[in-house]
Amino acid sequence: MAILIVAEHDNHAIQPATLSVLTAASEIAAHTRDGELHLLIIGHECESVVAITQGIAGLSKILVADHQIYQFPLAENMAALIVSLVQDQSQDENQTYDKKQYSHIITSAGTTGKDYQPRVAALLDVAQISGIISVESADTFKRPIYAGNAIATVQSSDVIKVLTVRSSAFTAVSLTADSFKKESLTTEALAIEWQVPVVELAAQADSGKSAFIKAELTQSTRPELTTAKVVISGGRGMQNADNFELLYTLADQLNAAVGASRAAVDAGFVANDLQIGQTGKIIAPDLYIAVGISGAIQHIAGITGSKVIVAINNDADAPIFDVADYGLVADLFDVLPELTAALEVK
Ligand code: FAD
Repeated sequence: MAILIVAEHDNHAIQPATLSVLTAASEIAAHTRDGELHLLIIGHECESVVAITQGIAGLSKILVADHQIYQFPLAENMAALIVSLVQDQSQDENQTYDKKQYSHIITSAGTTGKDYQPRVAALLDVAQISGIISVESADTFKRPIYAGNAIATVQSSDVIKVLTVRSSAFTAVSLTADSFKKESLTTEALAIEWQVPVVELAAQADSGKSAFIKAELTQSTRPELTTAKVVISGGRGMQNADNFELLYTLADQLNAAVGASRAAVDAGFVANDLQIGQTGKIIAPDLYIAVGISGAIQHIAGITGSKVIVAINNDADAPIFDVADYGLVADLFDVLPELTAALEVK
């Protein structure tokens, strides 16, 4: 029994969340007898993703389904392919892949994984375990419930465990430096060099049930919120969109991502892809700075993975101070310019 990790990527680069999922998968493997890790890459013209993952230690096999129908991760097509690797197709004469039984199918709890993984579970007639934050054993996991206010320990008796992983709860495995140098090599050359078998999979029939129309992506030169080492967020206390400039300036000095509370998003200060919390993004930076944010439980649900939390708020009784490692009771309009000036001097 092996563990199947479904990679998240954009056909060019692997998403950092998958590197954290690999850590979770390794922890599961440590509790199983076989312990093989198979990485599944579903995409189109995704050779560079295959190449870069060749450098990941601990992988036994890379399975690649490269076909036009997988250019965008449509849930129906993704699920059909994943399930085809698990179900017994010994009658299928065209089947070239020596089928391995999988004990776990695991991916990150991002929007894509949340889309196809429930379908995989339903097709296999097993339960999905969502957003795990720790591995207790091969069949027992911890996951937050009630917006992170309680942690449930969930044990599954299903033969195949279908999991999504909260990537911020696991450290990322590293892509070795060597793997980057070898990016220019062909996938085949890499496979020989690293001796990691790359297995090409045939595409399944296009379900035709959904179609990709367009993606509207926010362009930003700042780090991505969910992977940034430093995040600085503003809340309703920022008062308006223009005042967020104070945060952008500071963020650029700290090479930080900018986030926001839902109140700031709802008030139109910033776009909703900056929202952090229960209904926003879950982050786990080394340093989180909350500015003019009260600390509602729905906001805290998104920041508990932060290593150090700093709060700036002019209300000493604000609940954010209960979770903050460092708190500054002060007016943000005094503090932010002072901080920016002090960093400029450095
Ligand atoms: P407020 O609570 O209004 O706090 C503003 C803070 O700014 C106050 O503490 C005030 O003292 C401080 N302040 C004001 N002026 C200054 C100044 N000059 N200097 C310093 N400090 C100042 N919220 C989220 O953030 N993320 C979520 O994902 C989320 N999901 C939700 C889901 C549900 C189902 C519900 C019901 C709510 C959700 N919320 C979420 C909303 C949440 O309950 C709070 O309403 C919200 O987090 C409050 O945002 P805030 O802290 O910016 O605003």
